[in-house]
Amino acid sequence: MTTADKATATDKVTAADPGRITAYHAHVYFQTGPERAAAAGLRAAVAEHFPAARLGSWHEQPVGPHPVPMYQILFAAPELARILLFLMLNRAGLSILLHPESGDDYADHAEHAAWLGAALPLRLEVLRTRA
Ligand code: ZN
Repeated sequence: MTTADKATATDKVTAADPGRITAYHAHVYFQTGPERAAAAGLRAAVAEHFPAARLGSWHEQPVGPHPVPMYQILFAAPELARILLFLMLNRAGLSILLHPESGDDYADHAEHAAWLGAALPLRLEVLRTRA
């Protein structure tokens, strides 16, 4: 058995099943007045194009692991491709955190997340102590 074969066998054992992802969050961050205006525009566009997506409250202060103001977009797993592409094209320079809901809050934010735009330092210790 070559080294490459061993790596493949290990990958098969440890691969997580994406089927356990039930939904996704997109967190839209803003810090300045212009960014807040851009976030409002994006929110209206998401509401228009994705009526099944749930738009969370505006958080004007850091909350939980989120280091700056934001709101959340919650959507079902089958919507991922359409919403991700929409956010890619319409994020207007904003930072957006996309993470799955797989049942492990810490891992979903720390290890399973993807960023559109600049990544912000999450306050992950908040999630670690909650468990
Ligand atoms: Zn979230």
